[in-house]
Amino acid sequence: MPTGTPYNGHIPPYNNIRIDSFSTPTSSGAVDYKSPDLLLLTHTHSDHVQGLASKSFGLPLHCSADARTMLLRHESLQERKKNTEPGTHGNRAYAHLESNIVTGNGKTRFTRKLLESAVEGLVKLMTRYPSHYKFFINSWTWGYEEALIGVATCFGAKIHVDRYKYDVYTSLSEPIWKEILTMDPTATRFHACERFDRCSEVDEDETEDVVYVNPNDMGLAGWHAYQQRALEEMSRGNFPSALRFGLCRHSSLPELKALVGLFRPNRVVPNTVYPNMRGADWANIPHLFRDELPPGAGDRIWEEMR
Ligand SMILES: [Zn+2]
Ligand SMILES: [Zn+2]
Repeated sequence: MPTGTPYNGHIPPYNNIRIDSFSTPTSSGAVDYKSPDLLLLTHTHSDHVQGLASKSFGLPLHCSADARTMLLRHESLQERKKNTEPGTHGNRAYAHLESNIVTGNGKTRFTRKLLESAVEGLVKLMTRYPSHYKFFINSWTWGYEEALIGVATCFGAKIHVDRYKYDVYTSLSEPIWKEILTMDPTATRFHACERFDRCSEVDEDETEDVVYVNPNDMGLAGWHAYQQRALEEMSRGNFPSALRFGLCRHSSLPELKALVGLFRPNRVVPNTVYPNMRGADWANIPHLFRDELPPGAGDRIWEEMR
């Protein structure tokens, strides 16, 4: 269950629907949980798939075709390390779900306007470096794919990935992965291989002039200011050994607004609530979606979260 998920992933009063939360509810509180009739999985980050590793899980699970592929091919870090050779794979933690998963026609989108701006900014910074520099793009979890595609496309180069990432990405519906990925570490200066087991081409102990590129959820204004500072630094001949780029691994607010605007729901219940925000993220939903919610929805949401 994602951090702070209200109602253990249910949406009362529809307590037979559950989203991204598949273990037995820890406390029922005021909610009368029923055995779920509909289970939905939004994406396969580890905090959203808890409970699915149980071999006794026998219910139909609905998700996108790409989420299904990623789930069925998922391997723990330990398993990935044991099997690094192309064509091999370790134990797949969710392989037992193969006949449980129901997929729709939705396709993962890889061209999103805000993300394009983030990727353009990143590529602009990377092009300033002398051409002997190598780059390690720290795509440490799923969600930074646009950066890999953008870098490969703009530089006309391949990206080195480990056996596991190659296996998962080239199994997805987007055909570009087969063109832009390589398992040969010497074939490129752009790398997104396993961060805990980087290839020798981008290992800081073995190679100089490696730039570590880290995603950072710094917001649009922060991202613009960061780019400005980095460009000024480079214009003085200083090339930082670490770069950040402003890319969030989840949907952007405009995308969420477009989704909510399609349905104009009476209530919006957040899927994840960060405890350190003390409810501010939930409380801001009426403001953030003020143009997408029908009259009275904001009051209902505030009433519910109190
Ligand atoms: Zn996530
Ligand atoms: Zn590599």
